[in-house]
Amino acid sequence: MRRRKISNAIIVINAGSSSIKFSLFADETRQLELFLKGQIEGLRTDNAHFIARHPAGDVVGERRWTGAEAGAFDHDAATRFLMAFINTHLEGHTVEAVGHRIVHGGGDFTAPAALNAAVLDRLAAFVPLAPLHQRHNLAPARSILASTPGLFQVGCFDTAFHATQPVLAQAFALPADITDRGVRRYGFHGLSYEYIAGQLPALGLGDAKVIVAHLGNGASLCAIDAGRSVASTMGFTAVEGLPMGTRSGTLDPGVLLYLMDEMHMGPRDLEKLLYQRSGLLGVSGISSDMRTLETSPEPRAKLAVDLFTYRIGREIGSLAAALGGLDALVFTAGIGEHSAGVREAVCRHTAWLGVELDSGANAHPGEGAARISTPDSRTAVWIVPTDEEQMIARHTRRLLTGAN
Ligand code: ADP
Repeated sequence: MRRRKISNAIIVINAGSSSIKFSLFADETRQLELFLKGQIEGLRTDNAHFIARHPAGDVVGERRWTGAEAGAFDHDAATRFLMAFINTHLEGHTVEAVGHRIVHGGGDFTAPAALNAAVLDRLAAFVPLAPLHQRHNLAPARSILASTPGLFQVGCFDTAFHATQPVLAQAFALPADITDRGVRRYGFHGLSYEYIAGQLPALGLGDAKVIVAHLGNGASLCAIDAGRSVASTMGFTAVEGLPMGTRSGTLDPGVLLYLMDEMHMGPRDLEKLLYQRSGLLGVSGISSDMRTLETSPEPRAKLAVDLFTYRIGREIGSLAAALGGLDALVFTAGIGEHSAGVREAVCRHTAWLGVELDSGANAHPGEGAARISTPDSRTAVWIVPTDEEQMIARHTRRLLTGAN
C-alpha cells in the first residue's frame, strides 16, 4: 500500500475589522496547494459565525456564537479558536509557519519580514495610516506570538510592491516638514498586483505596459511597466483614488475644510464619512454591494455604478499617461472578475485608448485567465483571477527557507 506523504503546511491569515480569514497550504516540493480555508465573521457583534471548507466546497467545520458570548469574541479569542481548529484539522501536515496580510509597511518595510515583538511594535506605528485595517492585521500575529512563541511568522505588506514607483508618483506637493514625517503616496493592494504581475509573462505581457484594475470592496488601479509598479490610484491611505464600496476615493481637500468649518465635523466624523458612509453605499443610499446595485431598479443605484465606472475610466487615462502608453488592461477581484456590466462600461470609457471589447467573451469568460478583447483590439483586455493568499504563502515559504 502506498503511504500518503506527510508534508508541511503554511497558514495564511487575513484579518479585517470584524473578520479573520485563514487558508491552509500544503507545502509540496514544487507548489503550494490549498487544502482548507475558512473564516470567522461578526467579531465583537451579537452574532459571530465560523465556517471552514475544503477547496471543493464541502464544509469541514461550522459554529455560531450569539449574544454576550459573540460580543466578547475579539481578534485574540478568534485567533486562539482558529489555531485550535487548525491543529485538529491538519490532515497529517505539520504547521511550519504563518503568513499574515498587513496593509501598511510604511517606508521601512518594502519586502515581507519575519515578525517578532519588536517588528510588531514598529508596525503598530502605522495604525493611524490605516485606521480600518492595521490594528486588526497585527492582532492575530500578537496572539500567536503569545501562545506559540516558537512558530515562524511573516508579515506581507500591501504597500511593498509599490516601493519601485518613481519619486514623482509617490510625492505630494507639500512642504518638507510634512513630507519628512512620511506623508507621501504608498499605494495598496500590492499583494494582489504582485500576484497578477507574476501571471503576465504567461499571457505574453511580461514586458508590457499594463493597467490592473483591482475592483473589490476596496478598489484601486495599478500601472505596471515590465512587471514593476510605476503608479497607483491609492496613496497615503487606502481611501485615495476610486470610489469604493463605502469609501469616497479622491475628494477635493477643500470639501474637508468646508465640512470642518460649516458642519463642525471632527476627525472621527470625517473618518466615518470617508471610510464607511461614502462610495457606492453613500451615492446609492442602498448598498455597498455591486450585485445588489446592478439588480436594483432605483435611479440612485444606477448613478452609483455609473460614477464608479466613469471614475475608473478617467483614472485609467491618468495611469496610461504615467506609463506613456498602454498595451493591456486587466480586471481582477470580486467586481473585476464577475461583473460583465462594469467591465463593459469601463471599456466603453477607454475605447479612445484602443480598447475593443469582445462582448461574447466578456459575457462568458469561463474559469481562470481569459482574454475578452477582440483579436484586433490595439489594447488587450484580460480577466485574471487574483490570489493574495497564495502570494502570502509563497513569501512565507521563501523567508522560512532563508531562515532555516
Ligand atoms: P474584498 O475587497 O472584500 O476582498 P471582493 O474582492 O470579494 O471583496 O469583492 C466584493 C465585491 O464584488 C462586492 O461588491 C460584490 O458585489 C462584487 N461581486 C461579487 N460577485 C459578483 C458578481 N457575480 N457580479 C457583480 N459583482 C460581484
